Amino acid sequence: LTVLGIETSCDDTGVGIVKQDGTRGKIIGEQLFSQQNIHTRFGGIIPPIAKDHHRENIDRAVKTCIEKSQITMDEIDAVAVTNRPGLPMSLEIGLRYAKYLCRKFSKPLIPIHHMEAHALTARLGENIPFPYMCLLISGGHCQLVIVKGVDKFYLLGESIDDAPGEAFDKIARRLKLQNLPEFDGMSGGRAIEVAASQSEDPTKFDFPLPLARYRDCQFSFAGLKNNAQRLISKLEQENETRPDEVIPAYREFCRDFLGAIAKHIRHRLQRGIEYSLQEGLISKGDVRSLVVAGGVAANDFIFRSCSEVAKHFNFESFRAPKRLCADNGVMIAWNGIEKLISEPTFSANLEEVNVINKCSLGESLIDKVA
Ligand code: ATP
Ligand code: FE
Repeated sequence: LTVLGIETSCDDTGVGIVKQDGTRGKIIGEQLFSQQNIHTRFGGIIPPIAKDHHRENIDRAVKTCIEKSQITMDEIDAVAVTNRPGLPMSLEIGLRYAKYLCRKFSKPLIPIHHMEAHALTARLGENIPFPYMCLLISGGHCQLVIVKGVDKFYLLGESIDDAPGEAFDKIARRLKLQNLPEFDGMSGGRAIEVAASQSEDPTKFDFPLPLARYRDCQFSFAGLKNNAQRLISKLEQENETRPDEVIPAYREFCRDFLGAIAKHIRHRLQRGIEYSLQEGLISKGDVRSLVVAGGVAANDFIFRSCSEVAKHFNFESFRAPKRLCADNGVMIAWNGIEKLISEPTFSANLEEVNVINKCSLGESLIDKVA
């Protein structure tokens, strides 16, 4: 089986070609056009601008990817494309192109849920049997799920406000980190991770633990973000920093902010693991796995911190290679392969597949966890 995957749900135009290799996948081509720099300059993603870039890039991305793979469309069994959730204007560009390919080359179309694709990516390179726990931390989501099968998910908890990646991006921008040449071109989350790693002083800034009194698995990052913003304003005043200048203690600030986010995530993860073992959602037997996925999973500090909690409950932790944690076409192609393995004749009716901007993930157990 060989599947071509297209991802345009947000600001990256990603294409990937993956070939089935037993229970895993072999990447035979990948191409990514990122709009990171453009959106950092505008201070956030502006949907029509994101759409224009996708439209400009999609044809070149697909063609370059096929060229690099040294295969022809004849050898491709299906086209997988993200159709939910995401920015409608961006999704539309990828979906339209995927339909065009399916018509032109008579291929089946496989519509993909973006968060399901994130949750399954680590299985491309590693043997991770179902069911497993998955922490999805990205630019638009924070969800704790049990992955029971290729299209069977149980949602234990999610963010009631911001996503962690969003909090990192906003605080990095508020700190003006990316004005410093060494952080130029990095995502907000990556910039904060690098700055934090340069700090040597002990903890300086205190952040309260969100939702500390609740025994569910819900997340909240808006409070941490607001606290951070207030603190930055105070430090700017105290240090009389100029409008384009970064506060002197930015490294310590980043380390403590990152630490606070990691602590909150760890706290919820622990509750999720306890609940899942208690309810038998994850067997008490030998194989217990935690997959950390989404763009923020590339953060070593957060990944290690989650792995420590998981290890305490005998879980082994996994994540995809860093470049595959953030949005890419490979994860969409891999999800296509997984769907075809579980249902070989799967094909969607081209007329019936549309973009869906908001789309929950699996069956919600949120009320039960509380
Ligand atoms: P979603 O998947 O929820 O729709 P998205 O697709 O925009 O959102 P991803 O591409 O999965 O998000 O992840 C992008 C996010 O990951 C950005 O917010 C970015 O700051 C964050 N990120 C990337 N690298 C790191 C890192 N090393 N540490 C923390 N955050 C990171
Ligand atoms: Fe994503």
